[in-house]
Amino acid sequence: MSDRVCLVHYHEIGLKGKNRSTFERRLVTNLHRALRDHPVRAVRRISGHVLVSVDGGQATPEMAHVISRVPGVARVSLAYLCTLDEEEYCAAAVTALHEAGEFDSFKVHARRSSTAYGRHTLEINRLVGDVLCQEFPTKRVQMHKPDVTVCVNVINASVYVYAASGPGVGGLPVGTAGKVVTLLSSGFDSPVATWMVGRRGAVCVPVHFSGRPMTPDTSEWLCQDIINALAPSGMIGRLYVVPFGERQRQISLAVPQSLRIITYRRVMFAVGERVARLEGAKALVTGESLGQVASQTLDNIAAVNETVSLPVLRPLIGSDKQEIMRRAQEIGTFELSSQSVDDCCTLFMPRRPETHARLREVHEAWDSFDHDAMIDGLVASTEYVDFDQCPSYKPPQELKERHPALAPRPWQGRTPQTGAESARF
Ligand code: ATP
Ligand code: MG
Repeated sequence: MSDRVCLVHYHEIGLKGKNRSTFERRLVTNLHRALRDHPVRAVRRISGHVLVSVDGGQATPEMAHVISRVPGVARVSLAYLCTLDEEEYCAAAVTALHEAGEFDSFKVHARRSSTAYGRHTLEINRLVGDVLCQEFPTKRVQMHKPDVTVCVNVINASVYVYAASGPGVGGLPVGTAGKVVTLLSSGFDSPVATWMVGRRGAVCVPVHFSGRPMTPDTSEWLCQDIINALAPSGMIGRLYVVPFGERQRQISLAVPQSLRIITYRRVMFAVGERVARLEGAKALVTGESLGQVASQTLDNIAAVNETVSLPVLRPLIGSDKQEIMRRAQEIGTFELSSQSVDDCCTLFMPRRPETHARLREVHEAWDSFDHDAMIDGLVASTEYVDFDQCPSYKPPQELKERHPALAPRPWQGRTPQTGAESARF
């Protein structure tokens, strides 16, 4: 029997002109890493596709599934790799259609990457179609929206035959859009926002603020689980955790009740920006959606935003909660985010938060405590865990020398989850 390979299709990278080969190389590297638990023999570019072959010759649906989650992949097909021998590729077409499950109608769709192979695609369609009609006499050939399409793709001196093909997540290969710091809670929104920028090619470094020591560290574990759900796609570099509980208590004593949330957020943004500078990240990302909760009115967004000078990306700003939850289901974070746990957001909450903050009052509140010292202290007490699944992520090795007092401590006293690896400088 012919070898089985994964044929990876991409759209957008094809549009990137001179950058195309950089993008393709990045995709190849990312696929290698994503498939490291599988017996991969080679991942290589072939004429507008990436080909994944395995030791033993038989790529599996599980591999195709892993590949489909890697940003930059538009589609992945589990194909039989044949020579130009007609009998061989017709036999593969028969096998592919037998494996297609229940169906009533089918068609053959042939393509050639060059004219070096003498047969025209119409001829190939007819040739393979005749063989399939003989083998499946009760099935209908249907050109428009058939149940199954058997693709016969002639690329260089090989023929790839498949009926099993599924969509990928699309987007661009991680590592082609720089690095971002994402503010990650264990709610529905920020994991989805993280995934969305990761899908656009950004290396994501999430920062989570927990209520520790005022709350248990459950939200930190939940964030690790969320990151473990996202990490196989290769978009997560490192998760930072900032124990924020004690500082929140100080803020709650210093500022008017109605301005607590805005003040917490300003501190969170400022710490996020400091981490971003240490990491060389070029933007912050949040899961905010306009008007969704009190803190997400335009006035409040402006009052928080002015704390930082880096761009703040809000990929969900125009999304409804239902859309976000659907996306959370698709990316595997829904169940995790459904668990309600105490984090810094549930701590010292005011009864009536300000919905339209006036900047003068926000500034008065901000100046009523030593915010710079608080931000320094929080950065210094930051902990982290690495996820060894993003080939483009480079930890800031020189962190200690540049900022001796601010070096994050290694993750303490916790056993890392599967797939995550504790970090040490
Ligand atoms: P989410 O579903 O992401 O928690 P939310 O609807 O609960 O969002 P808010 O609580 O107003 O909205 O948070 C707005 C954004 O602020 C979040 O999307 C996230 O980016 C950031 N954020 C909120 N809480 C935390 C936290 N504990 N740690 C880090 N970032 C946070
Ligand atoms: Mg939340």
